[in-house]
Amino acid sequence: YTQAKTLVFSRFGEPADVLSLHTHSISPSLPAGAVLVRTLAAPVNPADVNTIQGTYGAKPPLSQLLGTAEPAAVPGNEACFEVVAVGPPSPRPAAGTGGDGDGNTIKRGDWVIPATTGFGTFRTHALVEDAERTLFRVGGEKGNAGLSAAQVATVSVNPSSAYRMLKDYVDLVDLSVKSFASGGDGATGGAWFLQNGANSGVGRAAIQFGRLWGLRSINVVRERATPEETEALKEELRELGATVVVTEKEFLDRSFTARLKEEWTRGGKEPVMLGLNCVGGKSASAMVKALSPKGCMVTYGGMSRQSFPFPTGPQIFKRLRFEGFWLSEWGKENPLEKRNTVNEILDLMREGKFKEAPFQEVEWNWDTEEKVLKDAVQGTLAGFRSGKGLFVF
Ligand code: NDP
Repeated sequence: YTQAKTLVFSRFGEPADVLSLHTHSISPSLPAGAVLVRTLAAPVNPADVNTIQGTYGAKPPLSQLLGTAEPAAVPGNEACFEVVAVGPPSPRPAAGTGGDGDGNTIKRGDWVIPATTGFGTFRTHALVEDAERTLFRVGGEKGNAGLSAAQVATVSVNPSSAYRMLKDYVDLVDLSVKSFASGGDGATGGAWFLQNGANSGVGRAAIQFGRLWGLRSINVVRERATPEETEALKEELRELGATVVVTEKEFLDRSFTARLKEEWTRGGKEPVMLGLNCVGGKSASAMVKALSPKGCMVTYGGMSRQSFPFPTGPQIFKRLRFEGFWLSEWGKENPLEKRNTVNEILDLMREGKFKEAPFQEVEWNWDTEEKVLKDAVQGTLAGFRSGKGLFVF
């Protein structure tokens, strides 16, 4: 029997109040098509906390499969797992979204990640049924060569979201070719996009894809405690590939639209057609002002917990488009595309062209106290952090 520990919750609330650490054992006789995995690394994302609070768009089902006193759910959506045992092959071939269909593509020693969100990753081990469908073997033929567990554990939510949002709403690459890179009208450089929350995991990924795809980015971050720290953050993002980094204060200032025109977009001749909104509230309203006519604003986060008005004037006179992005649904609708996106990003990581976001390691071993784990989850929405929490096992 494998002894396992998992964080669980049975009611919604603050993580520090509702999470508990549960110990259970997993039988060595695995059902057909199942595998036993051990967790190597699992990040704590804002959505994980919102799920525990009960404010997220998806509510996890509660069950007593792990032998908890009350029906419970396991939080966490992302992780890098190592396969430690494989059950007998499944009689039913895996369909479409799964492995190669022979039911036997996942082997002992493979690194795997959850194929969809909602897996429940804050645990030391998991017995995974229908593994070919539920899990995704990392890196295809190349496996995990040249990758760290932290990279694999954090690839599927933040970088994948940034990748899809930059590709699926406005064809910035095409726009670059047509109106920028061609040098038409003296332009140099690629098409612009604008984003707030630019130092988030998603934001840092968007900056890097922008650089790799020849785009230019205007990035908004919150001011730090001192001017030196603010400058250091700006510099860090510029090193990743950000073209322009401004503070939220600069962005909200009346002068911003004029600066955008005069300093960066040649009198407004170079349009800003895509805005990625992680924050909401005033920052989102400023984004509406900054976008060019027929531009598109994609909202994917609400870190300020503030809504923003859909202002009538800009909708009509600038003919702006407002979209929402949710990776979970996108992944369900496009399972193969999701795998391809993840594999492409892993290749970029392998080649040293894409850097994972900074993280703070939280070691989770057999003796780690419940409080340490709960605090790591609770701290996620605190703001001004040097990196997101990453459980390492
Ligand atoms: P990170 O944990 O990496 O970063 C959090 C970001 O939020 C930082 O930039 C932080 O800025 C900022 N922030 C925190 N508090 C506030 C606040 N009160 N006002 C403004 N900004 C704030 O985040 P992720 O990249 O993992 O996620 C960012 C957002 O994207 C989250 O809302 C998340 O739920 C969402 N998301 C949505 C997806 C989707 O499918 N829709 C997929 C992936 C992420 P600072 O350093 O200044 O505190």
